[in-house]
Amino acid sequence: MQVIPGQQLAFEEEFTGGSGTFTENGVVFSSINGEEVEDVKSRTIYVKGKSFELIKPGDIVYGMVGAISKQIATIDSITPENKLKAYPSTKTFLRISELSNSYAESMRSFITIGDIIKAKVIDIKSLGIYLTIKQPELGVVKTLCTNCKSELTLRGRLLVCSECGAKQQRKMALNSNANVPQ
Ligand SMILES: [Zn+2]
Repeated sequence: MQVIPGQQLAFEEEFTGGSGTFTENGVVFSSINGEEVEDVKSRTIYVKGKSFELIKPGDIVYGMVGAISKQIATIDSITPENKLKAYPSTKTFLRISELSNSYAESMRSFITIGDIIKAKVIDIKSLGIYLTIKQPELGVVKTLCTNCKSELTLRGRLLVCSECGAKQQRKMALNSNANVPQ
């Protein structure tokens, strides 16, 4: 059977996960595209296929801020920094507690809808993938003025719009000009 990354293959009680798989909460999943092989003798299940390892906690990804609520934001259009890694088609979230090492009162003083962020994967759960932008090198890498969609220039700790003069706040990533996907 052909399988895709993130597809459930077996329960750990039946089979041990071999190459091309990962196990979470007693369930064996495929981590690559390929053909599922069950070795009944050794009770091992593995996937024969080419590369495309699934992203893991610690991996860096780029994504666009979708909806923002009080405590959590959804991040869309995720691209792993390592192009050889696959990203499962699942929801991705950024919690308010993962914006900064200090207390964050409002998500909107860190990120805004449409921003491109550089983030690190911290948790992969069946409900979705969770990201963090706490570290200095993580955060917003591309943003526009929320009033007029013009470019913003960093002046000290504030972003200033070159067109309308609006002053805005984001959690910018340090050295953010490197490797931003288009
Ligand atoms: Zn503006």
